[in-house]
Formats: sequence, C-alpha cells, structure tokens
Amino acid sequence: MLNKTKVVVTIGPATMEKEQIKRLMQNGMDVVRLNMSHADYHFCTDIIEKVKELNQELHLSIATMLDLMGPEVRTGEFINGQAYFRKGDKVRIYMDPVMGDSTKFSVSYSDLIKEVGYNTIIKVKDGLMLFEVIDIQSDFLVCEALNDGTIGNCQSVKVEGVKLHLPRMTKKDETDIIFAHKMGVDFLALSHVSGPEDVLAASDILINLKNDHIGLISKIENEEAVDNLDQIIRVSDGVMVARGDLGVDIPLERVPGVQKKIIEKCHKAGIVSIVATELLSSMESSIRPTRAEVSDVANAVLDGADAVMLSNETTIGKFPIETLNMMEKIINSAERDIDYLDFLSRKDEKDTDITGMISHSVAECASRLKCCAIIAPTMSGYTARKMSNCRPRCPIIAVSPNEETVKSLQLHFAVNPVLIDEMKDFDKIIEVSKKVTFELISTSPGDKIIITGGYPFKDVKTTNFMKIEEL
Ligand code: PEP
Repeated sequence: MLNKTKVVVTIGPATMEKEQIKRLMQNGMDVVRLNMSHADYHFCTDIIEKVKELNQELHLSIATMLDLMGPEVRTGEFINGQAYFRKGDKVRIYMDPVMGDSTKFSVSYSDLIKEVGYNTIIKVKDGLMLFEVIDIQSDFLVCEALNDGTIGNCQSVKVEGVKLHLPRMTKKDETDIIFAHKMGVDFLALSHVSGPEDVLAASDILINLKNDHIGLISKIENEEAVDNLDQIIRVSDGVMVARGDLGVDIPLERVPGVQKKIIEKCHKAGIVSIVATELLSSMESSIRPTRAEVSDVANAVLDGADAVMLSNETTIGKFPIETLNMMEKIINSAERDIDYLDFLSRKDEKDTDITGMISHSVAECASRLKCCAIIAPTMSGYTARKMSNCRPRCPIIAVSPNEETVKSLQLHFAVNPVLIDEMKDFDKIIEVSKKVTFELISTSPGDKIIITGGYPFKDVKTTNFMKIEEL
C-alpha cells in the first residue's frame, strides 16, 4: 500500500521492542514520535538507535520526532502509578513532590498556588478529572473533586480561565533540543506555543547549534495559538492539531472547525499539517475501531492533512500493529475519494514563480495523463515539497543523495523519499528513478512517469524542468 497521507506513530512501552518497531516500519509508519512528557533519554536513545539500525537493515529512511514537553504543568508520581477519586472527595494538591494517592498528589509547577484563587477549576488528564479550589494553604491547595475518575503519573494539569506565568522555553526543553541535535532527530514538536516568539526561541537554539536540518512542528493546543495561527505558520515547518490539549483549552465542539481551518491554512502556506490524538482511541483495547473514528481519520485525509498521528493507541494500546493497519486501510480508501484537481485549483493564484508553474503543470499532467509516479530528484527537498503541496493523484518519488533531505520529506503528503548514491548525471538519474519506481510500485509497459527538478543538480535552487517518459 503506497499511501499518500503519512502516519506518525508514538512509541511507548507497547512498541519499544525492536521486532515491534520493525513491524511498524514495514506496515506504514513514516515518522517515529517520542513524547518527552513521558520518555527519558535512556528510552529515547534506545529507540532512536533501533530505528537507525532498522533503517539500514530494511533500506528505509524513517524519520524521528521529539515532542517537547513545553511549558506545562503535569501531575507528580502516584503510589502504584495512579489513584481513583470520587466526586466530593477533598484532595490536597502539593507544590513539592509527594507520592500521590486518593487523598493527595503533587504538580510540577510550584507557583500554581500563587496564581489560582478560591473556586478556580483545575482540569487534570485532558479535562477528564475536575477539581475546584476550596482552600489555599502555604504549600498545598485543598480541592474538591467534581467528578469520579482515575489520574496517573505525569498527566496534564490545566487551570480554567487563568494564564499561568510559565516560562517560554523551559530548561528541560532546551536540554531536550540539544539532545535531539546530538541524536540526529529530524523533527521537533513544540508543545504549548502561543505565538511566533515561542517557535523562534526554539529556532534560535538550533541556529546556535548550527543545525539547519531539524523541522519545527508547532502544536496548536490553546486559544492564543489559534488566534496567532497565521504568524505561527509563517515561522514553522509544520503544524500539529494537538486535539488532546486543544479540546481542554477551547470548547470541545470548536475543535473540528479549528482543525479544518488549520489544515487549509497550512496547505495554502505550503507547510505540513498533522492531525493528532484519539483518531483510533477505542483500538487501545478493542480490535475494531468505532464508525465515528473511521470517519474522523477519513475526514482528516479528505480535508488535506499531510499526516495523522497515533498516540496512546501505540504507546500503551493492546493492538498497536492492528491499529496501524486499520489506519492505513482507512487512508487508502479515503484517498480514492480525494478531489485532487480541486486541491490543485486552490493553488492557482499564488504560484506564479517558475517552480510554482512547473509543479502545477506536473500535477495537472500527472492527473490528466494518469501517470503512475512523479519522480523528483532533489538535493534540498524543495521540488518534492512544492510537488506535494500541489496534491497530485499519483505518488511522488523523491530521490536524493542527502539522508537529511530524505528524512525531512517523510511528513509530506504523497512523497516517498528514497536515498540514492549520487546525483550528477541527468541520464543516470532517469535510469535510477525508473529502477526505484519499479521497486516501489507495480507498473505495466506503456505507463508514464514525469521527472521534474532543477538542473544542473546542486547549482540550481529552483525547479526548472519536467520530462515525461513511457516505461
Ligand atoms: C495533544 O495534546 O493532542 C498532543 C498531541 O500532545 P500530548 O500528546 O503531548 O498531550
């Protein structure tokens, strides 16, 4: 199945063994995500090393994404990892670490006590457990549980109607960025950004590290970020619709509309969009998804998302491989219903430069001539990104001798990046491209491919040719 919509898979205890990662790679995972709100360096190093080894073994270039914790408040540790609370329980929330149980727990932000008031509502675990502040002591809050529920270690804590004075860039995020740089990670997902300055703060650290490879994915998960979407898009390589936290910060019923707006704006701006969280949630414990979940995944594809993401389904779920297979099946079916020429027509007014005109023509020709693939030899990934943004009907095979380029393209709709030895001679590239096409897709004599790029390779920074070949 050569699907166009990419799948980001979060790795956790349910998928950390090499054999499981291998199966995920063989079953359509494009990007491995590690969530720094839960994972430590030991875990991340182990997974990144396994991905590197498997990339070599399987001749793949699966990319890695480190999802930073960001400036946020989380619960501390609980005895046995979790505790159950009943509506009406009086619970102490401590500012310093204590082992939690059903009467108390701690949070990671000690100034919380100064920034809340009486009757403030504290939302834990993406808003599933609510507490109301009824008393404020010197080192703890006394709260009343407003519903029954379980909370565990390291779960999100939000305060309704209060903008907490959390730092823009935490020490932990800074250290995690340096770790990502050292480990050769391909993408950073920036949590809880509220404006372009937050993205630029991460970008500054990468500039200081002389790292021009890591792509910055801004997670939209609060009202302020929704308000500042255009400015955030301008400084990001991609945007993630982080529906877990977003659905706590804004009314849940607004999330679908905001999701559609984000996907559309990212497409217009030519950056990638990722739809995340609870896409196939019921598959954490069930072998089959609900109809509503299938519809949710399909709608993200039909709206033009570049990628969809699995979280709990693959970190702690019982059926990670089955969930990925189901995701691929839904994507495959939904992609048959995409109105590709409609997407292309949305690009009309803007792309009047040479690259824009050529990629537009290539996508149109590929559609009208029913080409089986578009081949994009690329040094920087520019041609492939532009082609992806035109949403062609057939796969784009991006061949590049640059491993960083290859991995940076893993989030882009329809792009199948392939590492090749070198890119010098034009005829050699055509020959290699045809070989790669035969390996990736089933073709018949007479099938057409379009080769597009910038020639002379290396010297030219724009796309300046298209060539149609019959196989
Ligand atoms: C989300 O909130 O939807 C999300 C993707 O972020 P995290 O998994 O870190 O909560």
